[in-house]
Amino acid sequence: MSAIISAFKYGFTISAAAVGVLLIGGTALASDAETKGPAFSEGDQVAKFRQLGPESLPSPNIYRSASGAPGPAYWQQQANVTIDAALDEDKKRIAASMEIDYVNNSPDTLNYIWLALDQNRFKDGSTARMSTTAGAAGSRRGDGSSANDRLTFSALRYQHAMEDREYGFEFSSVTDAAGRPLSYIINDTMMRIDLPRPLAPDARFTFNVDWDHNIIDEEAVGGRGGYECFNEEDEDGNCIFGLAQWFPRMAAYTDYTGWQNKQFLGRGEFTLEFGDYEVNLTVPSDHVVSATGVLQNPREVLSAKQRQRLDDAGTDKPIYIVTPDEALEASKSKASGTKTWQFKADNVRDFAWSSSRKYIWDAMIFEQDDEANPEVLAMSFFPPEADPIWSQYSTQAVVHTMDVYNKFAFNYPYPIAQSVNSWERGGMEYPMITFNGYRPSEDEKSGEVVYSRGIKYGLIGVIIHEIGHIYFPMTVNSDERRWTWMDEGLNTFLEYMAEYEWEENFPIRGNYQNPLDQIPRYMQSSNQVPIMTQSDSVLQFGPNAYAKPAAALIVLRETVMGRELFDFAFREYATRWKFKRPTPADFFRTMEDASAVDLDWFWRGWFFGTDHVDMAVTGVREYQVSTQDPDVENKIARREYEAKYPENITQRRNREEGITPRIERFSDLEDFYNENDQFTETNKERNSYKSFLKGLNSWEKATYERAMKDGDFIYFVDFENQGGLISPLPVRLTFENGEVEEVMIPAEIWRRDSTAVTKLFVRKKRIAKVELDPAHQTADAYYSDNTYPPVITSSRIKAYKYSGSSRKNLMADMLVELKTEKEKDGSDASDDKQVPLTEKQMNDVKQNPSKSDKKPLSDKDDKSLRRTLEKLLGR
Ligand SMILES: [Zn+2]
Repeated sequence: MSAIISAFKYGFTISAAAVGVLLIGGTALASDAETKGPAFSEGDQVAKFRQLGPESLPSPNIYRSASGAPGPAYWQQQANVTIDAALDEDKKRIAASMEIDYVNNSPDTLNYIWLALDQNRFKDGSTARMSTTAGAAGSRRGDGSSANDRLTFSALRYQHAMEDREYGFEFSSVTDAAGRPLSYIINDTMMRIDLPRPLAPDARFTFNVDWDHNIIDEEAVGGRGGYECFNEEDEDGNCIFGLAQWFPRMAAYTDYTGWQNKQFLGRGEFTLEFGDYEVNLTVPSDHVVSATGVLQNPREVLSAKQRQRLDDAGTDKPIYIVTPDEALEASKSKASGTKTWQFKADNVRDFAWSSSRKYIWDAMIFEQDDEANPEVLAMSFFPPEADPIWSQYSTQAVVHTMDVYNKFAFNYPYPIAQSVNSWERGGMEYPMITFNGYRPSEDEKSGEVVYSRGIKYGLIGVIIHEIGHIYFPMTVNSDERRWTWMDEGLNTFLEYMAEYEWEENFPIRGNYQNPLDQIPRYMQSSNQVPIMTQSDSVLQFGPNAYAKPAAALIVLRETVMGRELFDFAFREYATRWKFKRPTPADFFRTMEDASAVDLDWFWRGWFFGTDHVDMAVTGVREYQVSTQDPDVENKIARREYEAKYPENITQRRNREEGITPRIERFSDLEDFYNENDQFTETNKERNSYKSFLKGLNSWEKATYERAMKDGDFIYFVDFENQGGLISPLPVRLTFENGEVEEVMIPAEIWRRDSTAVTKLFVRKKRIAKVELDPAHQTADAYYSDNTYPPVITSSRIKAYKYSGSSRKNLMADMLVELKTEKEKDGSDASDDKQVPLTEKQMNDVKQNPSKSDKKPLSDKDDKSLRRTLEKLLGR
């Protein structure tokens, strides 16, 4: 390389000094690393490519291998659960007796065990409630802040609901298998049972717990379950019950953190142990029940017609088990008796269920090439209020999810997959059952049932997302209390993949069909924390735990690794950790181990850091190799000189004014130098050209002649990393003749200088345009500096009419006629309705009746507030 550079004159200098600096730099860094170990700070150039060390990833051990696979001594606990539960529809209460058979597969002897009491999150004095900030009051995601004192109607209703009822577990009996009482303590959302005898490795402990609790009013309190009643004037007065996180569940005991008994604050969800479940649910006899597991006694709880319909379910479209008409009919009365639905579920980490007489029920078969579950029964349960979109889309979306996820991960691992319509938006996942929001609404004017584009795609999207969670984390059992992104991020990525396969231009996020165009706004924001932050401390939860890791995986698949390497490695991760408990290191390591792609820089930048991607093409210089022949080159040099330095303006204007230079008036003044300049060829130059040719040894001569023959165009293209986050550089070269070439420059180009690099392109044809990431596949924040030469953007601008603020005119306002009851106010229900709090606001209302005269907030309005919050929650 350096020989060619020194042999040929490019008309510029890539100096030996520059090469020297490069070498010196390399040496200095190497010795620095040797003497000081991993002493680079994040600011160091090379730090971005340094391998992840123990400060980021735990050392591999016998439980977790350096390859990212479970180690030879990998273990996990098992908890088999039997529950008899009864729903009291009128009291909105659940009572149950439960047996847990806990198997200690760990190498440790346990003196006590921990159970997770998620319902205690709603108890008076819980850490979750006590640590809620004023700004987050009434917000389901339990965060948020506001500069001003404000109180939403949702927050106020939440306060009332908490005042009116006691929530949390009430225990009547905690005993061992022989019925002897066990000693236990409850710390907030965790219950410690002290074992009568230490539980040795490989031993099991069976115990019984009897408990009750009030079911939360989901609409007022918010949560991942509860009841919703249809008590509006034109509604039937029935309720839907969604029972989730409803029984004391074994906390996870792990090799990486011991007991995972970090308190439940509402956001960091949970990780649990796998086990076999047998659950008997006693509910009003006219209820339909959807639950984790396979129904064991259809003859006792279903009619002959319903059983026949279930047998008739096929693979091309869903059929009704309970039709809309039958559901409407059932909603007209209330049965007095009860029925017990018996469910069995093998190898699940949780159990959830739903019950209502309002349910329409449909079913369809999903076939897969799988020995254990060749046919999966896909079903949906929803009230008539959810139609027509639920009949049309829900079960189809369930089946579509399995179709796509099976390709990326593994076959759907259970015989049942269900989508249940519960709250209005968002969703939540449990093994074999998911709760999903979104319903159409009634158009106030026409009374027609209508739904927006957002509702339609929101529904399909949330069902894909929640059914997807049955793979991650219900089967790949990552620890969501600690790392939300491991299931939300991976699952959101797969959700996008399934949405792309549902229809083209699916509005993946808002109106964006490309999440990589949407994520940079978040990645440039200031109140960010790394993806690796513990769940409850994450800021901007939705983008942090869902959208950013999902965007990262799209970049990884489409830009960094390529589909073939990514898909193999991702499937390997999913298969390795199916029904096991992975940590982030297991994911990071597997993706590298299975692909031979060093991704430490990628994990560091995207998962451990908060930089964003912003690449730019800042310069392109074109050359051709010089012949060094003065008879050729001097003419070219003159042309270049004249192009670079146009005639000076004084001289030009003098001529235009008719000023004749003296030399033209007195010809005696001319001499040799008026005919010749620095570009005139001399014999000395010709001799030096000859001796240059003579001085070339044979390979240099051959190289020279080849270069002369080819006449290639040589480009030095400058790239700048303005965002900090390392990225490969997908480059599109457009040639003068219109041909296009795509080049993928790997991220490693940044390994010595992570801020600015120059890339050499040698091409036969002249390049007219260089574009960086034209397909938007890197999550670049600004595309205005990605094209060389720059282009003028064109758009439309609206003329803006300024309207001054409307001032109150008391005299005029008093003349306004009072509206009658029938007249609609016409003002839209806005999302930021507030209870006036400040004195100024109170006065405003008193003095300006029109402001407080708005029709009182209906439940519907309040639901729209809640929907906004739900949306923010990103469930
Ligand atoms: Zn999710």
